[in-house]
Amino acid sequence: MKSDVVLSGLLPEELAEAADIPLSCARRLFSRIQKGSVLPEISPSTIRRVSLDRVKALGVQRELRLVEQAASSLDPFIKYAFAGPDDKPFETVRIPLEKTGRYSVCVSSQVGCAIACRFCATGTMGLTRNLEVWEIVGQVQAVSQGLTAPQARVHGVVFQGMGEPLANAARVIAAIRILSEPAGLAIDQRNITVCTSGLIPGIRAVAEALPNVRLGVSIGDAREGKRQAIMPIDETYRLTDVLRAVGEHARGSGYAPMWAYTLLAGVNDSPEAATALAERAAAFVQEFGIRPRISLIPYNPVAGNDGRQLPFERSGASVLELFREQLLAKGFGSIVRYSGGGDIGAACGQLVQLSEKRRTRELPSASR
Ligand code: SF4
Repeated sequence: MKSDVVLSGLLPEELAEAADIPLSCARRLFSRIQKGSVLPEISPSTIRRVSLDRVKALGVQRELRLVEQAASSLDPFIKYAFAGPDDKPFETVRIPLEKTGRYSVCVSSQVGCAIACRFCATGTMGLTRNLEVWEIVGQVQAVSQGLTAPQARVHGVVFQGMGEPLANAARVIAAIRILSEPAGLAIDQRNITVCTSGLIPGIRAVAEALPNVRLGVSIGDAREGKRQAIMPIDETYRLTDVLRAVGEHARGSGYAPMWAYTLLAGVNDSPEAATALAERAAAFVQEFGIRPRISLIPYNPVAGNDGRQLPFERSGASVLELFREQLLAKGFGSIVRYSGGGDIGAACGQLVQLSEKRRTRELPSASR
């Protein structure tokens, strides 16, 4: 009887060992599986029949079900809702990059999230489950297979969809290894960013396993004692300790971390808050010798899982500008992240479980 091993969740080495086939053969099969081929259609002329039969006996091929797909009318963002075998939807966003035909994919790592950042729609859902390796990889595969223009390809991946990736760190690490494997989608690890609310054990695990992957950390509020009000995770992992773990990775890898700062009107957008952020950045440079890339994210007002609006507003343009100026006055430039797809709920912090009503509007599967 076949096991429930899902073949797209295995690296070539794991496939070779589990199926007891030569590594060269496993690499060819891995490549075909990752690029969307279905095993029965693979001709034994390119793969030894005995190897193909062993892999077929080893496990199954699964694909995500596309529940819904929405293209923004404001910009070329596309949001997808996929579901695994339990039918619980999770969301993925295709983000166009500056260079035509290049895309980044914002992927989910969990259905829901237990971290409960107060400003985040996903945080109101609670955690349903961790995604499996093949479900994380499958989001990027599906987006990649949907790119039909010549030369179009997935250039990067950002773990900033639903869920706290480092609460599912082992599977996220395994998925990154598969996504970056040269025989597969070959996404450069330097173009993969793992964004965390600050789970220190996970930061250390990623830093050790994947030193080339970039880290992003959600700052929330740099002022001592203020962060906890909007990010309860700070009660367990204090920002000072989180930044130390991020700094150690930066010092080892040489890659500047991204500091994501979601501006909330009247909460963390004051000149004092900007000064506190700049002081944290200066202390970080002094200790680790690397300047963080500060990314300011205008907030997208959103309703939580119960349909009620979350109690936060977007900062006004003049407040945002003043905040930037305060940072600059202390020697820190910042970028204002264009958070696209606002009309389809694809922007940062807007990903939330689809309602039953919307879930019934099914579309055919994107992949194969
Ligand atoms: S911002 Fe990220 S970590 Fe925080 S609740 Fe939302 S999904 Fe979870």
